Amino acid sequence: MYFDKPREECGVFGIYATRDMDVAALTYYGLYALQHRGQEGCGIAINDGGVISAHKDIGLVGDVFSGDALTKLGSGRMTVGHVRYATTGSADRLNVQPLVITHRNGRIALAHNGNLTNDAKLRDELERNGSIFHTTSDTEVIAYTITKHRLVLPSLEDAVNRTMDEIAGAYSLVIMSPTKLIAARDPWGFRPLCIGELDGGYVVSSETCALDAVGARFLRDVRPGEIVVIDGDGIRSNTDHSGTKEPALCVFELIYFARPDSLIDGISVHEARQRAGAFLALEHPVQADVVIGVPDSGIDAAIGYARQSGIPYGVGLIKNKYIGRTFIQPTQQDRENQVRIKLNPIASTVAGKRVILIDDSIVRGTTSRRIVKLVREAGAKEVHFRSSAPKFLHPCYFGTDIDSSENLFAHKYDERQMKEMLDVDSIGFLGPENVTKLSPLGESKGFCAACFTGAYPCDPPQKIGKDKYSQKIPTQGSR
Ligand code: SF4
Repeated sequence: MYFDKPREECGVFGIYATRDMDVAALTYYGLYALQHRGQEGCGIAINDGGVISAHKDIGLVGDVFSGDALTKLGSGRMTVGHVRYATTGSADRLNVQPLVITHRNGRIALAHNGNLTNDAKLRDELERNGSIFHTTSDTEVIAYTITKHRLVLPSLEDAVNRTMDEIAGAYSLVIMSPTKLIAARDPWGFRPLCIGELDGGYVVSSETCALDAVGARFLRDVRPGEIVVIDGDGIRSNTDHSGTKEPALCVFELIYFARPDSLIDGISVHEARQRAGAFLALEHPVQADVVIGVPDSGIDAAIGYARQSGIPYGVGLIKNKYIGRTFIQPTQQDRENQVRIKLNPIASTVAGKRVILIDDSIVRGTTSRRIVKLVREAGAKEVHFRSSAPKFLHPCYFGTDIDSSENLFAHKYDERQMKEMLDVDSIGFLGPENVTKLSPLGESKGFCAACFTGAYPCDPPQKIGKDKYSQKIPTQGSR
């Protein structure tokens, strides 16, 4: 991993157009806006009069759809798009989405963000009944379960509804049949999903920033447990699974995963990060001369800290925006240089000063130590490290790669040890009691914060630990 940060596993996107428009190009722009949610593979499936075709591959959106790939995809009035991040193992082409499944009653394309917690059991049952899996992903488990029900139920939405009785864990889905587009969100609402309106169509997306990118007007979020169906009759909703669980939006979407210009379940990500910074200032005050943030997601938190504490905010670190995934990591020893190439301190902001350095989180601690070193070498007199996320103490099973406890910095070390290892004058983390108050109204309900508290909204998979993604086949990512 280039930087020591947790990674989101996917972004989903889909269009239903009621008139001719270039849905392939619009989906490309939408996926571009969602690129931060997954950089290892991407794809678009398009529906032209009931014929579904797809183009997908490993790589960034701009690379996979370079040249005439979009033109070759053709025209149509419906699409499903996906950006993917593989958690472990190789970024296998077979796991890249959307998945396109042909069955006796038709064809579907499906894109998924999240992780099921009972996929091993379901996969086992499906295999016993003759399903032959082509991927190692739980998305295929969802696709086959939907297909199983579709063969005996009158409509795709009935099949999705029945599938939601069986699958557990995190899923935001966009599903396309020859005649309809379906968006569905798990009853906890772990991962975001929203609906927008185009002039002549509808868009569904993981985040509102992708609606903005295609000129769509935000209509609303898909509610936890809701199935939204868009077809020739317009847009309708099934809420059989809504309200069956306590809502549990991943709070780390607000702190780190989502783009700051997105609204998630009505919450501005940008404002939530500033609130996290303000809480940090109240919880961990210190005498200092300047507050700086680690780009990108530490910046908003630093502004919030500065505003609350009255200590001036300064631009202390500049990020090189032009480092992509093609950047070569030459040797293990050059990792410090990598940080130096990606981030450069502004000496005039920090030299001779007592600096409060704010980052969005500490996972394994390796990058944080290098960033502190940069700031010290630029002349900081003191460095006080603050994390706008609480301490990561537990693994995540709901669609991120937050690892087993034994690999988490805050689980392995106490605060004195962390302070020494990072070489900082003080250290402070947002308290778990405040991480659930990041919405503008400050209400504390409706979030998952399990990687900080250990209170899982639903049962984790039976087999847990760092090999959680290899319950079935040990070499591939989960999707
Ligand atoms: S465990 Fe953490 S990262 Fe995973 S869904 Fe919950 S808050 Fe998000």
